[in-house]
Amino acid sequence: MRTIGHFIDGVETTGNGAEFQDVFNPATGEGQARVALATQADLDAAVASAAAAQPQWAATNPQRRARVFFNFVALINRDMQELAELLSAEHGKTVDDARGDILRGLEVSEFAAGAPHLLKGEFTDGAGPGIDMYSMRQPIGIGAGITPFNFPAMIPLWMLSPAIAAGNAFILKPSERDPSVPVRLARLAIEAGLPKGILNVVHGGKSVVDGILQHDQIGAVSFVGSTPIARYVYATAAAHGKRVQAFGGAKNHMIIMPDADMEKAADALIGAGYGAAGERCMAVSVAVPVGEETADKIIAALKPRIDRLKIGPATDLASEMGPVITQASKDRIAALVESGIAQGATLVVDGRGLTLQGYEKGYFVGPSLFDNVTAEMDIYKEEIFGPVLSVVRASTYEDALKLTMDNPYGNGTAIFTRDGDTARDFAARVNVGMVGINVPVPVPVAYHSFGGWKASAFGDLNQYGTDSIKFWTRTKTVTARWPSGIKDGAEFQFPTMK
Ligand code: NAD
Repeated sequence: MRTIGHFIDGVETTGNGAEFQDVFNPATGEGQARVALATQADLDAAVASAAAAQPQWAATNPQRRARVFFNFVALINRDMQELAELLSAEHGKTVDDARGDILRGLEVSEFAAGAPHLLKGEFTDGAGPGIDMYSMRQPIGIGAGITPFNFPAMIPLWMLSPAIAAGNAFILKPSERDPSVPVRLARLAIEAGLPKGILNVVHGGKSVVDGILQHDQIGAVSFVGSTPIARYVYATAAAHGKRVQAFGGAKNHMIIMPDADMEKAADALIGAGYGAAGERCMAVSVAVPVGEETADKIIAALKPRIDRLKIGPATDLASEMGPVITQASKDRIAALVESGIAQGATLVVDGRGLTLQGYEKGYFVGPSLFDNVTAEMDIYKEEIFGPVLSVVRASTYEDALKLTMDNPYGNGTAIFTRDGDTARDFAARVNVGMVGINVPVPVPVAYHSFGGWKASAFGDLNQYGTDSIKFWTRTKTVTARWPSGIKDGAEFQFPTMK
């Protein structure tokens, strides 16, 4: 069986540990590799390598640092197909979708190649008599990223690209469920010209995360994963004096107004609800049609589309939806569907019990559709993270807006309408971080930024865009004058501009 090692000081190594965890192929349910789990000594080795390499990297001029990203982007493009297949084999998503995963990360590496422009700082000529003032953005030193299973290329690239372009060394702790692509990316970064030690990868679960959160040489931590762990990471890293941003789970609502194009809204719901088997933090899991007639129409439009969905392994290019990540996840989804029935929702399409010939042990779950869901039901309250779409009927636009706003999560939301006034009102009032107007999955492009509100994000500053450069640097402001500008004698008054 293949062994996936850590990537420390420019080489792949299984480190000091004797512990390994199996990495499964979700389509077949078979173990296909084992990943080494890091000990504290492995993490310390990664930090030591980062600490040794970082000062020289920070002293390298920003344009030279940026050139590494031009090479890195070219190498990822060169290996795109191979990376996508490797990603699909461990995650289960279709190869096309895996390419999307890599590409949306790659775009942030492209953005990072332009980081010199954002690192320039500020200068005021004559901020006082004979006084000039300038602010610099300096790297934090060593940053760390802890990432979820569902985007094993995109989210690591969102974090490591701006962090490294800004002059930091970076330690990545990817999901232990699909760890191969992150290690391949670290290898490609070295091939692109990144000095060894600037990007290290360590694998593992809670113990290595705790090691990162408590490590006194790590200055900033970025986390993406489920809300309970995001809260924990936020509180623990902050208690250890670190800069921290922690992005959590989601329950994204899509409002369908009576004037919307129902066919297009149904297409959008199918892709956003069932794409990647619902394992996206920007998946739409709640459809909120306004008015009974709209609800009936959207359900009627969804049903045949669900029946036509092609479910299968990533190796079958016709597949539109793959398996979920683990047997435990499959069982959890089935239990939640059961709870929806027990709590009174109408199960319109039941995705449980799906088996595919030749893939009987795979973690396939068919798409489920619930109607008449209410805010008290577990299928509404829980982040299912599977191919289950709930329809909550709303009487008015205000009711639909209130439902969305009362939900504890605030990652993404969308409205489908032809009415500009309603769309504008929605975008202005809704308390959610990313809003789509006739766009079901409104993931911002690399030079804007990504982040939710409420229980979907803790801490400050978003992923990528200008925010990311701010997150991975700190400001130093210099006030300077020269002897000709200094008056004789001591000054006892606090300096003012009177
Ligand atoms: P997860 O929270 O289980 O794991 C995320 C990371 O935390 C992994 O690296 C994991 O090894 C580590 N971890 C797991 N248990 C831990 C513990 N007890 N203590 C410390 N660290 C621990 O999440 P997941 O299942 O890998 O990913 C799915 C979740 O991520 C969903 O909730 C999804 O909404 C969320 N997500 C959010 C965003 C966003 O931007 N808001 C993006 C993608 C995924």
